[in-house]
Amino acid sequence: MHLLSYNCVLCDLNTEETVQHLFLECDMARSYWGLIGLTVISSPDVLHRFKSFKIQIKTPFFMKIILIMCWCILTTRMTPSTEVSLLAVCVGWTFSS
Ligand SMILES: [Zn+2]
Repeated sequence: MHLLSYNCVLCDLNTEETVQHLFLECDMARSYWGLIGLTVISSPDVLHRFKSFKIQIKTPFFMKIILIMCWCILTTRMTPSTEVSLLAVCVGWTFSS
């Protein structure tokens, strides 16, 4: 399938919508991680970025939190509805203490 553009529709930067951009680099994704007190670090290594989340979360169920937030980001992009956005806010506890 050929599309007219592969750029992220939420960015004004003409940035290609890669998986890394979708979950970690897009301003919308960064704001969602910020809702739960996580900072997306700058690194070319995706695994290093997710390991950083593990360190920031400091709980044994960190992977569930990461997966739920990835789901929130993905579904919000696919259907930008208020319900999904509210869900992201509902899981918006912080781990920065
Ligand atoms: Zn984007």
